[in-house]
Order: sequence, then structure tokens, then C-alpha cells
Amino acid sequence: MPQHAASKVYLVGGGPGDPGLLTLRGAECLARADVVLYDYLVNPRILRHAPPQAKLVCLGRHGVDHVWRQDEIDRRLVELAQAGKTVVRLKGGDPALFGHLVEEVAALRAAQIEYEIVPGITAAAALASHAGIPLTRRDAASAVALVTGRESDDKQQPLDFAHLAAFPGTLVFYMGVTTVREWAGALVAAGKPADTPVAVVWRASQPEQRVLRTRLALLADDVERARLRPPALFVVGPTAAAADDLDWFSRRALFGASVLVPRPTRADDPLTRELEQLGAKVVAAPAIEIGPPADLAPLDGAIERLGSYRWLVFSSANGVEALLERVLATGRDMRAFAGVKLAAIGPGTAEALAGYHLRADLVPPEFRAESLADALAPQAAGGRCLLVRASRGREVLADRLRAAGATVDQVVAYSSIDAPGPHPVAARLLAEGSLDWIAVTSSAIAR
Ligand code: SAH
Repeated sequence: MPQHAASKVYLVGGGPGDPGLLTLRGAECLARADVVLYDYLVNPRILRHAPPQAKLVCLGRHGVDHVWRQDEIDRRLVELAQAGKTVVRLKGGDPALFGHLVEEVAALRAAQIEYEIVPGITAAAALASHAGIPLTRRDAASAVALVTGRESDDKQQPLDFAHLAAFPGTLVFYMGVTTVREWAGALVAAGKPADTPVAVVWRASQPEQRVLRTRLALLADDVERARLRPPALFVVGPTAAAADDLDWFSRRALFGASVLVPRPTRADDPLTRELEQLGAKVVAAPAIEIGPPADLAPLDGAIERLGSYRWLVFSSANGVEALLERVLATGRDMRAFAGVKLAAIGPGTAEALAGYHLRADLVPPEFRAESLADALAPQAAGGRCLLVRASRGREVLADRLRAAGATVDQVVAYSSIDAPGPHPVAARLLAEGSLDWIAVTSSAIAR
């Protein structure tokens, strides 16, 4: 029996970079973590699966900050588990491929610590799917070899280039950027044809993904000319020729475009999600900050009186969330909305209501306060409406509904204030001129 039954170490593959390419089991393990030790190649957005109170430790980036030595990592894993923590050791790609898994497991075993290994999508698999370069082909490549390009490490078993050159299939080199001249030269010297197709894939599955196609003899010069930096993979073999191109990833409408989203984003922001689905690199840089209202009393009062309104009118998803969370926090549930009609300014606001199992009775054809007022006016006349709003905003909705004969109350459900200054990342990208689009989603943000 392990000595520390309560604690456990999960060695989890974080996938190649796209946060959607984490396994369900990986997400479950992260959700239990007290501490996450992660490699810098792991997309930090994966860390949002960890609970907010979990301690997140990056193990360092080469040339930027302290990079933990393997023995330091091994020791820390053991210490944390012995202290009763549930630990996730999050690695790029698959933990069993070029990831020091053997050393870490040996350390855990020696200390009798319980562990589980969760596979991940290795970079070579992501390259096949996301750069559209098949690794096998019925008529030309019946085998695949995953090879390390880094031989400087003296513990590494030396590569036998004669066998590699004769390998009947596709070679995929990991960690081969800085050593490309040596290994590509060694392959040619060992008899691999100089015109063997090669594809270099930088940041596979990420919005920055780039593919460079060349031939083995030209590879080192081309890599140098392109000033290529890690992480990149090299596919050497017939399927690396452009003829086998399966690419869908870089053909998406916004692939390669960088889009600034200056609104306050929640973890699962639908706009961000949609932009990313189209291939954009999204930079979140809030220009306004959303918080609780300065005074909760008016909101609580409005919640008390909910049943007296004919219509509740929401002009943002933030308003939905603020009001609904307060309803729940004050010990109520969805029955508080019985008999009250719900209007939402647009589909995002209606979706936010749907998240609480509430269906909007009215969504105007156009996502504007004027359109909402016009659609609502005939039904609201003579009745009481409650407008759920931010601490600032336009008066047009209230004015028009009053003009149409409705009794209108307004309640501040959340505060919206300007960010203290320009977001540093946004300022830098604007100065560099490297932004393609800015998504302006409200008048406050525009201002
Ligand atoms: N365990 C990882 C590999 C770790 S070695 C896996 O299974 O993918 C680190 C090397 O992986 C990098 O030098 C690079 O060659 C490769 N790599 C990791 N992620 C990559 C990505 N998104 N695109 C291209 N290469 C990547």
C-alpha cells in the first residue's frame, strides 16, 4: 500500500497548444489539483481547468527565467505529495514522449507515492491534423519514427543515422531546430536522398502555426534564413511534399489575424471562442472593468419586488449574470421569475439567460437599445418594467418605454468602470502595428 493514500500525482499530457486538445481525463485531474507544476510549452489557458485556489507553478522558460532541473522537479513532486497535496504535473504533448516521464515516475515509486499517467496529443499528431501533413500513406509511408534532434545531452543514446536513413517511412524530428545542420547533414551522409521532402511545422495547432516546405539538402539553410525558433517539428519523407496537403486549419477566415477583444472576458467568453474557431489569435485586454454595484440595497430591493413587474429587461449578459447570481445568493431560485416576462437585448444576453434555464420572451431583430424599445413598447405600455443595467449607460431604453406609456424602474446590477489605463499588451501591439482587428462591443468600450 502506498504510504500517502490521500495524495496523488497525476502526470498529464497537456497537448500541443490548442487548449481544446486536452483530454477529458486531463481536465478532470486538473479540476482536483492543489498544485500544478507545468512546462512552459503548455498553453496556460489549460490551467483554467484547475480550481481558482490551486497553486500554479511554471517550471521556467529557457533563456527567460530559472528553468527547474529534472532532479528539482522530481524532488518537488515527492515533497508536495508527501505534504498531502494532489499534484498535477502538466507536460506539453504526451508525457511519455521526450518528457522525462521515466525519471519522474521512478522518483514517485521510490517514495511510494500513488500516481496516474494521462496521455496527451503529441505534437506529431497535431501536425498531421492541424498542418495537414499525413504521417503515413498507403503507397509511400508504412511506418513512422519519432526522433529526437537533440543529441547534445550526454545521457542520450546516440542516433544510428544509417538505420534512420534507411527507415521505410516518415521521420518526425522533435527538438531539432538548433541542431538541424548536424542531423540533416548526417542523414544525407548516411544515404538519405538529398531531395527528400521536408516540412517544418512551427507551433502546430496554435494560431501562429507556420509551415515551411523544402528538401533535405536545403533544410538547414532554409531554417536559418527563416530565423526559425523552437518549438518546431520536422517531417522528413514523401508525405511532407505539398501534394499531400490536408490543410483546413490555415484556410479558416481569420487564420493568422490578431484580434483585440477589449471587453472584460470571462473564462469561456463566447466572442473569443467564435473568433478562435475562425483561426484568430485573440488578445484579451479589458478597457472596462465589471464589478459588483457600489450599493447592493437597491438590487436586493428590486429582487424582493420581482413579482410586481410585467417585464424584466436585460441589456447585457453581465446584467443577467449579476442579477441571477444575486437571486441565488439571497437564497432564492428560478421561481422568483414566475409570471415575469423577460426581454434580452440580443442573442448573447438571451444565451446568458438560457444558462440559468430561463427563456427570453423577447429578443429584438436588431441588437440595439432602440430596436429593443420598439419591440417592447406595445407590450409594455401600461405595465411596470424593470431595466437591469450597469452603473452607467444610455437612457434611450428607459426614455422610449416611458414615452410608450410604461412605468419604468431601473436598477444597477453591476458597476462598469474604465480600466485605470491602457492595457499594456494592447498598447504594445498597437504601437507595433501588429493588430489586425479590434472588436468593439459597447459604447463604453468604444469611448
Ligand atoms: N512531450 C512532447 C514533446 C516534448 S519535447 C510531445 O509529446 O509533443 C519538446 C519538442 O516538442 C519541441 O522542441 C518541439 O520539437 C516539439 N513540440 C511541442 N509542441 C509543439 C508544437 N505545438 N508545434 C511544433 N512542435 C512542438
